[in-house]
Amino acid sequence: MSLPAPERSENPLDAARETLRRVFGHPEFRGLQADVISEILAGRDAVAILPTGGGKSVCYQIPALLRDGLAIVVSPLIALMQDQVATLRDLGVRAARLDSSLPPDERLSVLAALSEGALDLLYISPEGLMSGAGLDRLRHAKISLIAIDEAHCVSQWGHDFRPEYRMLGRLAEIFPQAPRLAVTATADRETQADIRRQLRLDHARTFVASFDRPNLILAAERKDNAKKRIVELVTARRGLAGIVYAGTRDATEDIAQKLTEAGVPALAYHAGLDPRVRADRQHRFQNDDDVVMAATIAFGMGVDKPDVRFVIHADAPRSIEAYWQEVGRAGRDGAPAEGFALYGAGDLRRTLRFIEDSGGVDPAVKAAQAKKARQLFTYLDGMTCRRAGVRRYFGEENVDVCSVCDICLEPPASVDASEWASKAVAAVLRTDQRFGRARVINHLMGRPPMNAADEQYATKTTYGIGADVDEAHWRAVFDQLLFDGVLTEGGEDMRPVVQVADEAAVRALFKKELPVRIREPAKKAGRRSPEERRADRAARKGAVLNETPLFAALRAWRREKAEEQKVPPYVIFHDATLAAIADARPKTLTDLSRIGGVGEAKLKRYGASVLSICAELAA
Ligand code: ADP
Ligand code: ZN
Repeated sequence: MSLPAPERSENPLDAARETLRRVFGHPEFRGLQADVISEILAGRDAVAILPTGGGKSVCYQIPALLRDGLAIVVSPLIALMQDQVATLRDLGVRAARLDSSLPPDERLSVLAALSEGALDLLYISPEGLMSGAGLDRLRHAKISLIAIDEAHCVSQWGHDFRPEYRMLGRLAEIFPQAPRLAVTATADRETQADIRRQLRLDHARTFVASFDRPNLILAAERKDNAKKRIVELVTARRGLAGIVYAGTRDATEDIAQKLTEAGVPALAYHAGLDPRVRADRQHRFQNDDDVVMAATIAFGMGVDKPDVRFVIHADAPRSIEAYWQEVGRAGRDGAPAEGFALYGAGDLRRTLRFIEDSGGVDPAVKAAQAKKARQLFTYLDGMTCRRAGVRRYFGEENVDVCSVCDICLEPPASVDASEWASKAVAAVLRTDQRFGRARVINHLMGRPPMNAADEQYATKTTYGIGADVDEAHWRAVFDQLLFDGVLTEGGEDMRPVVQVADEAAVRALFKKELPVRIREPAKKAGRRSPEERRADRAARKGAVLNETPLFAALRAWRREKAEEQKVPPYVIFHDATLAAIADARPKTLTDLSRIGGVGEAKLKRYGASVLSICAELAA
């Protein structure tokens, strides 16, 4: 794109802000964007850890437009490159990608554009860049900057280790003049240190943003007829794109089928599917604005769709990191989006089993993973604000509550369960740690023995000492002891046996030195209280954004345009932009240009059609 060169005397950040407005249509920088951009514009390296939806791409796209020469963007997945390049082109930016999926003629035209200096940004995979041919082609070009996207892939501590990323450290000596920027959304301290070391960015300033995601509305519930609940949650959000994460392949198929039967366009996605089927389904999800994907975590990093309006965990994830990464796929566009997690003691058991069975893993790493799993359940089942809980977990201080999550809206009542907890543990010990939770509960409640083993234990002092409360209550007590790591479930996966995990904790419990609190037992699904239904509706309003006919008409128009141009709808305009247009009902191009997300190129290309739709629906 031919931008006028910024005047020498001008503050470089003013030029950057001007580009943000003119090209991207955003009035102001968000969070740490301005700081990161200043660093790159000054020709210095940087590392930026910004939350999903925090606007990482602008951090290198704007310097790419302002600095002389070609910006190289290293990206781990073709889907991510396609998406970014399509979005940039629609903004009128000269961007292209070089990857193995490109048809030969397109490849030739990209190479021609490269040698003519007709590109501002080139997206390329790490192996494509570091191959002999790749480097030869670029070695003599003027490189304005190098951006390394999803930089956590360089670290084996991260979730998505990609050995090819390790080669990228050499860029420091191959392109010594070009400032390098590593960006990612998820990097704990170890991963950050690895990024700096491996990518030779030790001297670079690191920018770490808050982990807050102000547009996320979060909730978690103990499982109770989970399948039915999922159908209920999804059908209440009909017409919105969402992801339902499940722990097994079968579960994804089953959920997709149940949703389809309920009239929701739903697809299953897991690693057992043929790669072509997977690619096809991912494409449909990406390109439609109302498809729900029931998926295992195989549906992961490539999911860059900005208008995912909800993420539901049908089974709990493995850690708070994983939870945040997965929930974080909702609402990248900054518009309201929801996260629901359903969880139960069975999920914790599955995770712990998985950790235990992973071969060749250092026992210290296993212990750390098991701790992370317990922390997740304590969090999900806890009583602190959802968003504040995550932020504190990631080390943020002085965190405010979100005031929109389930806990903030309706603080759960808790009761002191220490007495019941002691009885439960005593029963586990008296029955020789041989029984599963259900049988220990039968024993506590003094139910008639079912076989000789039960009968033998029916003489113990713990038999029938818990007949005063109901089964749901006992399940909550056991869940709490399991979540807290006082008890554990061993034995075979299908027939887990409850055992003592922490003897010191048990002694403390018996000495009344370890208080145990539980949330008031959940009400039965289907008999939700009026408050709960109100909270559901309020949350739904949050994600639906705008229910006016104008918004619907704009979405329909956008879908048509997207089909014409063979791009996903959000490449044309984001949901939030359409919602803002539907609110503002602009009458002139000037009115329209004031709306966030409407830059110069969009105004020229779509302004007239948008105004005519607004006029039509006003009449
Ligand atoms: P990330 O890669 O960090 O998840 P993106 O770079 O894809 O985020 O940006 C997320 C969304 O936020 C995009 O739709 C982008 O257009 C928008 N965005 C980026 N910067 C700003 C800004 N300063 N003001 C408003 N919206 C922004
Ligand atoms: Zn909250």
